[in-house]
Amino acid sequence: MIDHNTYHTICTTVQQHHATLVAVSKTKSLEDIQALYHLGQRDFGENYVQELIHKKNKLPQDIRWHFIGHLQSNKVKEIASFIHLIHTVDSYKLLKEIDKQAQKQNRVINCLLQINIASEETKFGMDALELKALINTIQTAPLLHIRIVGLMGMATFTTNENKIRQEFQLLKKTFDIYKKVQAKNYNLQILSMGMSSDYTIALEEGSTMLRIGSLLFGKRD
Ligand SMILES: *Cc1c(COP(=O)(O)O)cnc(C)c1O
Repeated sequence: MIDHNTYHTICTTVQQHHATLVAVSKTKSLEDIQALYHLGQRDFGENYVQELIHKKNKLPQDIRWHFIGHLQSNKVKEIASFIHLIHTVDSYKLLKEIDKQAQKQNRVINCLLQINIASEETKFGMDALELKALINTIQTAPLLHIRIVGLMGMATFTTNENKIRQEFQLLKKTFDIYKKVQAKNYNLQILSMGMSSDYTIALEEGSTMLRIGSLLFGKRD
């Protein structure tokens, strides 16, 4: 766990850019999360549904939980009652399932569309064509229990800062273009990009939401 000063330094930088800090707590203990909570942190991100539910049940109820891992359709119902923001919507099928489960809970779930900006084959997210097709679909057949509030992306895992910057610039450009689109339950406000190793570049390139894990909690095993 980090000390107060480091946490507040990161918070100050994030606030200067009018961005939001999501503390990525995957694999970290309840005690670690509590400690950061007591420093004032309220937004936490998790990658795995079972781990998220376990932690949610044991931690303060005013935590805003973000889902940032790859989400399988059959798991949506387990988080639909409480999830604050799903960062990783990468198909219309998944969006429809979120809509269905949100309706059952009588709520509207905020979602980000995950865009594949990295060159690595393994990264999840939609390419430009898939994004266009998804937007077309929701324009013709709006979903009433989801709200698309932004985009999310992960840069290539590399030490090449130029490459990272170019990928973030591509995501920001996509964000600016799709911000202009009119559709029901669609209002792009959030650009979720930047992790421990690249968050300063992300802020420079227009990020409004950072997902930071190891810098706050220490390395994961
Ligand atoms: C684990 C993870 C993070 C945080 O990574 P760090 O390098 O520890 O900051 C951010 N975003 C996603 C999608 C992750 O899976």
